[in-house]
Amino acid sequence: MSKRILITGGAGFIGSHLCRRLLSQGHQVICLDNFSTGSEANVADLFNIPRFTLINQDVATPLNLEIDEIYNLACPASPPHYQTDPIRTIKTNILGTMHMLGLALSQEAKMLQASTSEVYGDPLVHPQREDYWGNVNPIGKRSCYDEGKRCAETLCFEYQRQYGLDIKIVRIFNTYGPNMHPEDGRVISNFIVQALKEEDLTIYGTGDQTRSFCYITDLVDGLVRMMATEKGFIGPVNLGNPDEFTILELAKKVLQLTDARSRLVFRPLPPDDPQRRRPDISLARSKLGWQPSVSLDDGLRATIAYFRRRLGVSANTDLF
Ligand code: NAD
Ligand code: UDP
Repeated sequence: MSKRILITGGAGFIGSHLCRRLLSQGHQVICLDNFSTGSEANVADLFNIPRFTLINQDVATPLNLEIDEIYNLACPASPPHYQTDPIRTIKTNILGTMHMLGLALSQEAKMLQASTSEVYGDPLVHPQREDYWGNVNPIGKRSCYDEGKRCAETLCFEYQRQYGLDIKIVRIFNTYGPNMHPEDGRVISNFIVQALKEEDLTIYGTGDQTRSFCYITDLVDGLVRMMATEKGFIGPVNLGNPDEFTILELAKKVLQLTDARSRLVFRPLPPDDPQRRRPDISLARSKLGWQPSVSLDDGLRATIAYFRRRLGVSANTDLF
C-alpha cells in the first residue's frame, strides 16, 4: 500500500538515498530540508516524479501535514558542521525531534529517529551493544551532537511511554557513499577528495583509532526494515558494519584504490575523538534479519567513482 512518508533531512547524504528507495517502492515522499548541509542537487532528479514533494523548512519550526510515517534525519552529521553552530545543532535535535513527535502524534503516524553511535561517546565497552549507556562528555565540543541525540532518544521514549506513540530508534554507525558532500569533513570524503586532488591525506592523531564503515545501500535497507517492525518494538537498534579498521588502514586503502601519490600527514586529534568504535549488530540480525553485505573495498570503489564524477577528475589510468 502506498504511504505518505515524511523524510526530514531528505536532501542530505542518507536522506537522498532513502527518498529514492521509498519512491521506488511506490510511496509518496515528502522531503523536508533547510539545505544547511544538504543540497537540492542531491534530489534534483526526483523533481519530475509527482509522488515527490520538497519543502524548504527548518525542522525546528512547526509543521502540519497528513502523513503515515516520519523518518527524522534532519541534523548535520559531520563534526566540523555540527560544531559550527552548536546551539543550532541542539535546537535541531531537541526542538526538531519534539516537533516531529508532535506531528506523529497528531497524525497517529509512526516515527523512526536517526540516532547515532555517538551516544556511546568514547566507549569503554567494545564492541558496543545497545544496552551500553556510553561514556559521553556532556560539556565537550561534540556534546551538542552527542547529548542532543541522547536527549532526542529520551524524548522518543517518553512520547512512547506517555502517549503510546509508535517509535523506532536506530543508532547509525559511520556510513559513507555517493551523495556525500566533497566538503562534508568526515574521514572517507576527506581522504577520497584529498587523494583525487593529489593533496596530502590528513590523519588526525596517530591514525590508530578505529571506525567501522557501513555502505549507504546497506544502511538504507536497515532503516526500511526497522520501520516495518511490529508496533511496540522501539529498539534502539545498532545499524553499522562490524568490520573495524584503523584510520591509517583506511588511508592506505584509499591511496591504493585511487592510485594516488599523496602523502600521509599527521594533524592533532580533535578533543573527545572516540578511540574505538564497532557495532554489535546481534539485535539487528535477530529482529530485522539485517546485516551489511557491501565490503569496504567495494563501497570505496563506488564512492571514489562518485567523487571522480562530482569533481570532474578522470581515473589515473585514463591518462596513460
Ligand atoms: P547530512 O549532513 O548529509 O544530512 C543532514 C540533512 O539534514 C541535510 O540535508 C541538512 O540540510 C538537513 N538539516 C540539518 N539541520 C536541519 C534543520 N534544522 N532543518 C531541516 N533540515 C536540516 O548527514 P547524513 O550523514 O545524511 O545524516 C543524516 C542523519 O543520520 C543525521 O540525523 C545524522 O545524525 C544521522 N547519522 C549519520 C551518520 C553517518 O555516518 N552518515 C552516523 C550516525 C548518525
Ligand atoms: N579523521 C581523520 N582525518 C580527517 C577526518 C577525520 O583522521 O580528515 C578521523 C577523526 O579524527 C576520527 C575518524 O577519522 O577519528 C572518523 O572521523 P569522522 O569525522 O568521519 O567521524 P566520527 O569521528 O564522527 O566517527
